[in-house]
Amino acid sequence: MNESDAVLAIAQLLYQARDVVVFTGAGISTESGIPDFRSPGGIWSRYNADDLTYQKFRASEKYRKIYWAYDRERYPAMKKARPNAAHLAIVELEKAGKLSGLVTQNIDGLHHRAGNSPEKIWELHGTVHEVVCLDCGARWPREEITSRMDRENIEVPYCDYCNGPLKVATVAFGQSLPESVLEKSFELARNCDMFVTVGSSLVVQPAAMLPLEASRHGAKLVLINRTPTPYDAIMDVIAMGSAGQILSEVMDVFRRFSGVAATR
Ligand code: NAD
Ligand code: ZN
Repeated sequence: MNESDAVLAIAQLLYQARDVVVFTGAGISTESGIPDFRSPGGIWSRYNADDLTYQKFRASEKYRKIYWAYDRERYPAMKKARPNAAHLAIVELEKAGKLSGLVTQNIDGLHHRAGNSPEKIWELHGTVHEVVCLDCGARWPREEITSRMDRENIEVPYCDYCNGPLKVATVAFGQSLPESVLEKSFELARNCDMFVTVGSSLVVQPAAMLPLEASRHGAKLVLINRTPTPYDAIMDVIAMGSAGQILSEVMDVFRRFSGVAATR
């Protein structure tokens, strides 16, 4: 199937579908300028993943310092990022009444910023935009904590209520995924009739099991990604390339099918 056939096939499936689940990974946000953590010269070349585990964060101040330094280095790119055409296409799908859920591995908050309804978005790996107390669960907007850290020269913040260690509200290595979000994501996958994966290598478990779950329950599977994944064989349609470009083209065709005038 060439690329324009894939675009047409995806638009057709979307037009026919009633309950679409979109599942996104880091690849949907590269066109918003959020770098892949693993690229050479990137943040991973300066930090050791073994130093950033949840267990080490809990265990000692030394590792809490390393974690916060790492987090504050990766954050600025996410703070200034703006949603791209791929994020906006998913907003349009919601407006068309097609979207039953949007499950993301991303922590950048760009689906919220793009304008999808918060109740449709399920963040499997948490968010960089909040900070949480690991002991009592109290939460703060990130900027509130980090501006205090800047002002008072604090390297590791602690909870005002219980003195527990504060951590950005993302899922660290070795930390379990939020149970309720995981359950809801699998429920969405089981109950949809179309499951669209965008910009994920589908190697991080258990999230990568979601397309399989959807397929077992009869959903049509679509993949939009730059590179092959271990699940390519079960996909009904694969469009390889830029998520922003492909989803823009898909929505152009979808609008024609729906008889809706272009909004952009
Ligand atoms: P990933 O495993 O989700 O893989 C990214 C995939 O996207 C790759 O297969 C790549 O080929 C594809 N891709 C890249 N740019 C693309 C584009 N413009 N269009 C279409 N496809 C594109 O991501 P990862 O970097 O291996 O990260 C793993 C974990 O790290 C994620 O689960 C996430 O929690 C975290 N992470 C989050 C962000 C973010 O929030 N934006 C960024 C990097 C990493
Ligand atoms: Zn607390």
